[in-house]
Amino acid sequence: MNITEACKQLHELLNGAPVLRHWPKNGLYFFQEEGETWGHDSNRVISRITRCGSHQKSGRLPGRATEHRTQNSNGSAVVRHFGSALLAREGRDLHEHWGGPQSRECEDCRKLVGQSRSYVSNSTREVIVEVEKEWENAETTAIGLLSHCGVCRRSQSWLGQHTRNEVIKNGKIWNDDAVDHIPTPEELDRFFTMIKVAGIYFRRSSSVFARLVYELS
Ligand SMILES: [Zn+2]
Ligand SMILES: [Zn+2]
Repeated sequence: MNITEACKQLHELLNGAPVLRHWPKNGLYFFQEEGETWGHDSNRVISRITRCGSHQKSGRLPGRATEHRTQNSNGSAVVRHFGSALLAREGRDLHEHWGGPQSRECEDCRKLVGQSRSYVSNSTREVIVEVEKEWENAETTAIGLLSHCGVCRRSQSWLGQHTRNEVIKNGKIWNDDAVDHIPTPEELDRFFTMIKVAGIYFRRSSSVFARLVYELS
């Protein structure tokens, strides 16, 4: 399997996901983002995957996959990247302490955390995938294949182009680690034997975009 085939297959797998009923302990989470479309078939509109995330310690998937939606977390990389992009898109300057401990005491930064969380709730959908072991290797493979697919492109209005992080700004996914990794054909084959789609995570307060699949299912 080559990278383009793997990217198509991953998008198709996640696109058919049911609503999440049971959380796996370990694995990956993927974002699909409103306004972003895959490049594999112009006759079939499928949301482009714009982030893959994971966790280190065993059992931490549920916590890591929801902190950017449920907690007042300045420490979340998702909140940091999305927040800096939202502010820059408005033409405003980011505080130097953004994401650091001082920003917790700053009213402007706290407001930006809220905006960032709203964007994530309203404009992204999150698909949870179980990986029983070596989930960090699976994350590296996923990020590598998503960033090297030759046919999926970011849209002209993709929010990520405004973020402070240079790697994300110049790329097409909200990841800055492992984007240079080029998965081998063997690694890609193995990746699909390791992952099992668990379902789409959503909260009742989510937007129409996030809920769409739930209502159809
Ligand atoms: Zn501040
Ligand atoms: Zn692709």
